[in-house]
Amino acid sequence: RNRAALGTPKVPNVKWEDVGGLEEVKKVILDTIQLPLMYKHLFSSKLRKRSGVLLYGPPGTGKTLLAKAVATECSLNFLSVKGPELINMYVGESEKNVRDIFEKARSARPCVIFFDELDSLAPARGSSADSGGVMDRVVSQDLFIIGATNRPDLLDSALLRPGRFDKLLYVGVNTDASYRERILKAQTRKYKLHKNVSLLSVAQRCPPNFTGADIYALCADAWFHAAKRSVKTFEADPSRNDDSSAEEVIVEIDDFMT
Ligand code: ATP
Repeated sequence: RNRAALGTPKVPNVKWEDVGGLEEVKKVILDTIQLPLMYKHLFSSKLRKRSGVLLYGPPGTGKTLLAKAVATECSLNFLSVKGPELINMYVGESEKNVRDIFEKARSARPCVIFFDELDSLAPARGSSADSGGVMDRVVSQDLFIIGATNRPDLLDSALLRPGRFDKLLYVGVNTDASYRERILKAQTRKYKLHKNVSLLSVAQRCPPNFTGADIYALCADAWFHAAKRSVKTFEADPSRNDDSSAEEVIVEIDDFMT
């Protein structure tokens, strides 16, 4: 009854270029995951059986996006599990469900298991359960764990024991306009932008604490507005060939920057 609805792991479709403004973190996570894949013989010692990265930082900054992008980049299947789902499993004493996750991932190797909301994975009060035990199951070279949390302060210290995560990476908000410009670029790379749109100028006018998720909302609004304009044009003249209408969605983000 308690079993997590696990989808079939597959390679995601988030591209490396879809992640904007996190160049340093991108480099580190790619090395951590890709090097052991490319140079198996160098990473095959018993000491190096586990590969885990913990992403921490405020909501909406791109942790999930990054985890998917690294999986795509390295052609790894991706299995996403939310912390609260796991905790239910523990409450239901359903060790079996945890085993299922790892079995599923193992049979889809090479595979990333993404543990979102990892902070919820603390053992119940008074229990001696070791939530980090989940990490110890990763004994295969072609299994990778990426964890994400907004609240590293709430993480069970057992999860942070040496050897459980190789890398702790902070994914934060940068208040520089150039950071927002890079995210805007990433998010609009498939848009046909109006020639007068300056992404730098848009970035400069966003609040400095704007996250990637905030920028996503802005771009989605701008796109929808542009699409509605195209619909109006089409309705005014239905004889126009609608196959080309997608290309005529010309996004003017500046409309939204008042
Ligand atoms: P949470 O902690 O709330 O799960 P998160 O850090 O995992 O947040 P994401 O789910 O990756 O955030 O981001 C939400 C959406 O915001 C993404 O799907 C993407 O559209 C956009 N976004 C966030 N950060 C970035 C970024 N750095 N570059 C491009 N888009 C981003």
